[in-house]
Amino acid sequence: MAEIAALTDVRSAPHAERPAGRRHPLPGRQEPDRERAAAAVADLLRALGRDTTEVNLRETPRRVADAFIEMLTPREFALTTFPNDEGYDELVVVRDIPFHSLCEHHLLPFQGVAHIGYLPGERILGLSKLARTLEHFARNLQVQERLTRQTADWLQAQLAARGVGVVIEAEHMCMSLRGAQSSGSRTRTMTLLGAVKDDRRTREEFFTLCGLQA
Ligand SMILES: [Zn+2]
Repeated sequence: MAEIAALTDVRSAPHAERPAGRRHPLPGRQEPDRERAAAAVADLLRALGRDTTEVNLRETPRRVADAFIEMLTPREFALTTFPNDEGYDELVVVRDIPFHSLCEHHLLPFQGVAHIGYLPGERILGLSKLARTLEHFARNLQVQERLTRQTADWLQAQLAARGVGVVIEAEHMCMSLRGAQSSGSRTRTMTLLGAVKDDRRTREEFFTLCGLQA
């Protein structure tokens, strides 16, 4: 039967008594202060030489604060896993999962697609949960390498999988919009674990299922 293996950093945080719908901060992170964030955005605009009393900009600080709070607050989800009763032992891959995150160096978005796969061991999980796991880690100040690694490590730990592969291809606005202006160029990162890393046939199959060249 289904078991609920909750995301430990969300569900077992000491905020479980919060009313439903209220967002939970991650441990080590303070609850966002919307007022302060909006005031800081207004400060930033003034420092950039803009007049925040102008009618077009009056609501901007609040909107920006809300947008950042949303992008940095993971949605709760329960990682429901199931015993692998059928003994399924082939790769499970979901490819082209769209995502976005925020670069911790520039507070600008990076976005693209992820391909996530695992070789089941004792437990399997609902396919949509692969995307939700990625989203959980993406709603943070991130670098692409760490986002890739955290997603893979977490799935490996939760599923006791025989192997995990995560490939992320993303365009970084901080690269596209500034300096080199390399619009459209994508950065690819990957974390391969277990048999997806060590077994050549499994690794090649993973890349093929992701639509990538081995
Ligand atoms: Zn950046």
